[in-house]
Amino acid sequence: MRQPLIAGNWKLNGRLEDNQRLLEALRGASSLRCEVAVCPPFVYLPQARDLLAGYDVALGAQDVSRFEAGAYTGEVSAAMLAEFDIRYALVGHSERRRLLAEHDEMVAEKAKRLVMAGIRPIVCVGETLDERDAHRTEAVVLAQMEAVLNAVPEAYWPMLVLAYEPVWAIGTGLTASPQQAQAVHAVLRERVAERSPEVAAAIRILYGGSMKPDNARDLLAMPDVDGGLIGGASLKAEQFLAICEAA
Ligand code: PGA
Repeated sequence: MRQPLIAGNWKLNGRLEDNQRLLEALRGASSLRCEVAVCPPFVYLPQARDLLAGYDVALGAQDVSRFEAGAYTGEVSAAMLAEFDIRYALVGHSERRRLLAEHDEMVAEKAKRLVMAGIRPIVCVGETLDERDAHRTEAVVLAQMEAVLNAVPEAYWPMLVLAYEPVWAIGTGLTASPQQAQAVHAVLRERVAERSPEVAAAIRILYGGSMKPDNARDLLAMPDVDGGLIGGASLKAEQFLAICEAA
């Protein structure tokens, strides 16, 4: 059985005072059956760690450098994150792929850095609306996933989490139907199974893209949907906790 994971991606949002309110409210999530994680901006990770100390809510970063150390101004390394009890880090979010020109190879390097530092990558994959309309969804998400599988040594695959996030559903209020999500999740899992049946059975595949309290239950009921990556709704404690409860 795969334990569901609900991860909140705060994106470029937060202020010390607001974070404190939100984090204190999220302490309530530690009694739930699903695993819960929050991914605040880098600078707020120590605040989140301190406020969640003793509660069963994991910390995640939103990104990581693909470099190890040295003259890379502005970067934050996997080893640095590891010093702050960070369990997860997102890689390959579509906003970074699109706005910051991150390509599959960079995403794969980041995932590799993370596993080597003991942090679990949440590897985001997803197609644009044009790609879906051109019937390229499967090809796109499989290529994005395989770039990571090819770079990360197989012994570390059990650390990976996948997140299927159709680009057209992120922050738009449009959600993939449970059937659309399930179809893509199944394709991803089947491809992993061709390479490792054990990893395929255990790997968690999250859905992300306008997941809200009112659609979470149906999405999470799908056999290959093992949790959610939540953007907008993760900034409101009530909504985020309702999604966690649905899991
Ligand atoms: P959203 O974002 O829930 O606001 O659509 C999801 C994500 O980008 O991870």
